[in-house]
Amino acid sequence: MLFFYHTCLYCGKGINPERLQALPETKICKDCAEVSGSDLILPRKEVGMDPETYKDLLGAIRS
Ligand SMILES: [Zn+2]
Repeated sequence: MLFFYHTCLYCGKGINPERLQALPETKICKDCAEVSGSDLILPRKEVGMDPETYKDLLGAIRS
């Protein structure tokens, strides 16, 4: 039987089961999440342009 023990990828400490229930995607503990500013291990990658710029680009392509 496999036993998944979730440990923080940053500090190696166990992640609070309640935290895992609330955030099943998380791979880091609450302390590290506070330090990194994100509950997920990877920072969200943005496209590199804001939505308004993106709309302008779409408009430019269509015209
Ligand atoms: Zn941690």
